[in-house]
Amino acid sequence: MERSGYHGRFGGMFIPEILVATFEELKTAFEEVKKDPSFWKVYQDLMSTYSCRPTPLTYSENLSRHFKGPHFYIKREDLNHTGAHKLNNVMGQGLVVQRMGKSRVIAETGAGQHGVATATMAAKFGFECTIYMGEVDVARQRPNVFWMEQLGATVIPVKDGARTLKDAINEALRDWAANMDTTHYVLGTVCGPHPFPEMVAYFQSIIGTEAKEQILDKVGRLPSRVYACVGGGSNALGIFQGFLDDSEVELVGVEAGGEGLKSGKHASRLASEDASVGVAQGYKTYFLQDDDGQMLETHSVAAGLDYIGVSPILSAYHEEGRVRFEATTNEEVLEATRLTMRKEGIIPALESAHALACTFREAPQMSGDDVVLVNLSGRGDKDIFTIADALGDESWKQFIATKAEAYSA
Ligand SMILES: *Cc1c(COP(=O)(O)O)cnc(C)c1O
Repeated sequence: MERSGYHGRFGGMFIPEILVATFEELKTAFEEVKKDPSFWKVYQDLMSTYSCRPTPLTYSENLSRHFKGPHFYIKREDLNHTGAHKLNNVMGQGLVVQRMGKSRVIAETGAGQHGVATATMAAKFGFECTIYMGEVDVARQRPNVFWMEQLGATVIPVKDGARTLKDAINEALRDWAANMDTTHYVLGTVCGPHPFPEMVAYFQSIIGTEAKEQILDKVGRLPSRVYACVGGGSNALGIFQGFLDDSEVELVGVEAGGEGLKSGKHASRLASEDASVGVAQGYKTYFLQDDDGQMLETHSVAAGLDYIGVSPILSAYHEEGRVRFEATTNEEVLEATRLTMRKEGIIPALESAHALACTFREAPQMSGDDVVLVNLSGRGDKDIFTIADALGDESWKQFIATKAEAYSA
């Protein structure tokens, strides 16, 4: 065990002895990348030719009018290749893997979005790719599994434990320990042992750097608030990094309120009183756990926010008071999704709709000429089953039933 990479009292590097060498190698590679002035340029070029960067900043005129102010500006991470900010991270790590001279990547995925992004990156870079996924999630996320396999990845259903994300993480770590020389573990968010939180935050900072330039260019002043949803925290830290030094800009992280904070059925670590500080999965942060350190079940309509831990960097900003944390409920989120579709012609991911829902809830506290910036982390096409179900679309239900019948026949 080694103690480094702390943010306040959070973070660290709680890893088994066998992985120390590969973490040291990764730390060194990342240090070199940060010092190399040509690296960021190569990264930016890659993202601008492969993933529509810089992503646009959209003025949401209709929503602004609907709420009679503030002025809503939306950072369009949904327009990235594969439909979300996740590609910013995996492509950056791909370049690091190339520099380290490795030829194989592995990842674990719950909802499948990070698996699809990683399989995409592996295809583009010519890496071998294995994705670990709990057996339960494999069944739940059939379309994503299909695409991962078509992109050339091997998807391994994990049959241990509860057969979900946590078990997939254990299996991926086992693989990494056995194949360190050739293999890199592509972590999907700003969590896990050092240097992952810093490295993922570094690549995602491209969101905030662009957004600040764009809003100054369009509006001529900084926003009064910046909103982003928080699962592990990568899209939030990505956009927040553009504004951390501007103390007049309030940063708001929005967690999954599920069925309401009082119901106990949520995934809110920093906005609720239900989480406590502990060490798990290689790092120290707030976890939703019981008094014995057993992880609690989390609930959210958005699979990407349904996680027990949260970035150690965000836990530190929480304690310093630099970021305010809120939670929005499934119901508020579905209403925000509906409104954004109707008013702006944008289908937000259910994760991203958490940030929108909080902005809408707080709009009445703001003045007509306040400017707010919302990070739209991803597009909602993937959520068609959940959204159709929640909005009670009868013809859709019939379509699914017919398909299910056809498949089982
Ligand atoms: C994965 C995902 C998230 C949650 O991850 P963070 O690391 O908190 O950003 C949010 N939005 C979308 C669209 C996602 O795919």
